[in-house]
Amino acid sequence: MMLEKSALYVVATPIGNLSDISLRALEVLAGVDAIAAEHVQNSEHLLAKHHITAKWIRLHQHNESAVAEKILSRLQAGGSIALVTDAGTPAISDPGAILVQHVREAGHRVIPVPGASAAICALSAAGINNPHFLFYGFLPTKTGLRKRALTEIKSYQFTVIFYEAPHRILECITDMIEIFDEKRKITIARELTKLFETIFCGTLGEALAWLQADINQQRGEFVLLLSGAEMLEKSDISEHARHTLSCLLAELPLKQSVKLAAEITGENKNALYQLALDLKSTGEPGF
Ligand code: SAM
Repeated sequence: MMLEKSALYVVATPIGNLSDISLRALEVLAGVDAIAAEHVQNSEHLLAKHHITAKWIRLHQHNESAVAEKILSRLQAGGSIALVTDAGTPAISDPGAILVQHVREAGHRVIPVPGASAAICALSAAGINNPHFLFYGFLPTKTGLRKRALTEIKSYQFTVIFYEAPHRILECITDMIEIFDEKRKITIARELTKLFETIFCGTLGEALAWLQADINQQRGEFVLLLSGAEMLEKSDISEHARHTLSCLLAELPLKQSVKLAAEITGENKNALYQLALDLKSTGEPGF
């Protein structure tokens, strides 16, 4: 395979099962002048399985800008470089975006070589019949900040995808129960493509009980897929509530308007919030 000169290849690697790598990824990794990797040893292990040796550049979140400059000079000299991370697709909750930005700004080609990503892998097997999803990635690690982040997305009607570390999985689900409702649906995708792959679907309450019942289910790597807030038809909102909200929105910030409209009219806050967003985006009169 002929590789482009002066190009950065952004190459996805497996998230567990080492066979989950594309033929094109292997050709690129075998052909580039050097590979930038987060942890060289992990990536060497993958390449060894496919009998590929490489020259390595160490790139991680603490040295990305400095290394980007070095990679740029190699690209300027006509070299071709691949970027990989420990698992999955670079720049998805992983380093890569800063390097890509530098390379694009310098006018060189950035060529994606697609493959596994834990979020999409989990979504594909969750059976959630909603075409819309938001990839959130990692929540804040401190409880207060995490609860605030969860509150912000409370009324979102699309699936929200989180990554979570094993030592925080219990507290994360506990916070979700507090902010949402224990009846909100969640899918927990654990150890995807690996020996102990498990995909749990149920309510938040059931998920907590399931995790607590078996400490083994608290181990490994996790993707959480939180189902969206229930859709409430806009037509379910009374004319009076619409009018009240619309008047408040003309004078006050969105959150305050929704809160007051809910208090005044007794309508559902989530439905009013969604209506407020719609009014804002369509620029309806009164807003
Ligand atoms: N770039 C990666 C991607 O494309 O998915 C994500 C890297 S991020 C640093 C690592 C997190 O992804 C883990 O903490 C976990 O939440 C999730 N993850 C990665 N591999 C996984 C797997 N095999 N099963 C479940 N979750 C996984």
